[in-house]
Amino acid sequence: MMAVLENSSLKNYNTFGIDAKAHFLVHITSADQLKQFILDGTFSGQKVLVLGGGSNVLFTKDIDGWVLVNEIKGKEKVAEDENYFLIKVAGGEDWTAFVDYCVERNWYGLENLSLIPGKTGAAPVQNIGAYGIEQRELMISLEAMNLKTGKISVFKNEDCEFGYRSSIFKTKERGNWFILNVTYQLKKTPAFNLEYGPLKAAFEESSPHAISLKDISEAVKSIRRSKLPNPAVTGNAGSFFKNPVVTKQKLERLKSNHPSIPFYELEDGAIKIPAGWLIETCGWKGKNLGNAGVHEKQALVLINKGNATGAEIQHLARKIQSDVLKQFEIDLEPEVLIL
Ligand code: NAP
Repeated sequence: MMAVLENSSLKNYNTFGIDAKAHFLVHITSADQLKQFILDGTFSGQKVLVLGGGSNVLFTKDIDGWVLVNEIKGKEKVAEDENYFLIKVAGGEDWTAFVDYCVERNWYGLENLSLIPGKTGAAPVQNIGAYGIEQRELMISLEAMNLKTGKISVFKNEDCEFGYRSSIFKTKERGNWFILNVTYQLKKTPAFNLEYGPLKAAFEESSPHAISLKDISEAVKSIRRSKLPNPAVTGNAGSFFKNPVVTKQKLERLKSNHPSIPFYELEDGAIKIPAGWLIETCGWKGKNLGNAGVHEKQALVLINKGNATGAEIQHLARKIQSDVLKQFEIDLEPEVLIL
């Protein structure tokens, strides 16, 4: 069993590479180990933060209480029928390695979500999405341990209240659960989603029958590598803000000053505006403020230019929010959890 670390640096536990400290930090490698901590009263009266890959968090100060790092491993095929496989994957598995594992076996569905940093247990929390697919479209259920009682509950897809980059685990159940494993239903035959511009462009010349699962996964990886900084080299947490959703009337007002504003109409008729475009139009793309910066190839990504503090990144985020509010009357909401 992994020892409890006291006053441990979190620098290697968050993709921003922020050097905050955790009062107590422990790697959780099994449900039984976690249950024992809970039943022993170890966390009683203390704050508990569950970390996956730390790829969607910004530490602006040291963390009181406990940081639990999900290191539970394992993946298995739990059922299959004519059309589908059911795959159960432990929360501490690396998401990208899991997607690669599925792609190698020709299990269809997760390919557009290739190369998203983080662990599988965090995928439902944030309802990760990319290139027109969200994990909720494939997730059947998950098992989570209640951090107060040590009891395990099953959450079916509909129990998770999934929304755009959101779930019950980010809202009313925040901080209450440790996600042990997630079960996905993957298809035996292809049903590719190539709607998003860069993916569509990558396969424009290809005959649909000639496109393989591996081709799509590789294309997604190469698009991501070309636009997004590698967190192992440059600290970042992917998209820092959510793409705002506005009414059609608001879009019309925006168009009068900005006729070329990009937008996407959602199923319910509301309009999604790329936050990256708003930030870029305010002149922030590629700019720095102290050790914090805005990525030069994608303005939605804030970066650690080296030894930035979380407060510096937050300061930059606030400046951007204030400029976007002034220029567009749109209040950008962080996607990253700011602690
Ligand atoms: P992009 O192609 O520069 O497009 C900007 C935004 O426009 C995207 O965020 C996307 O919204 C939206 N969009 C583009 N094409 C669309 C379409 N055909 N229909 C509806 N909406 C469309 O985006 P990007 O930054 O390179 O990212 C590509 C994908 O990877 C996006 O889905 C993005 O969310 C995802 N991604 C997520 C993170 C993260 O940290 N959460 C980081 C990098 C990339 P949506 O974001 O709503 O899809």
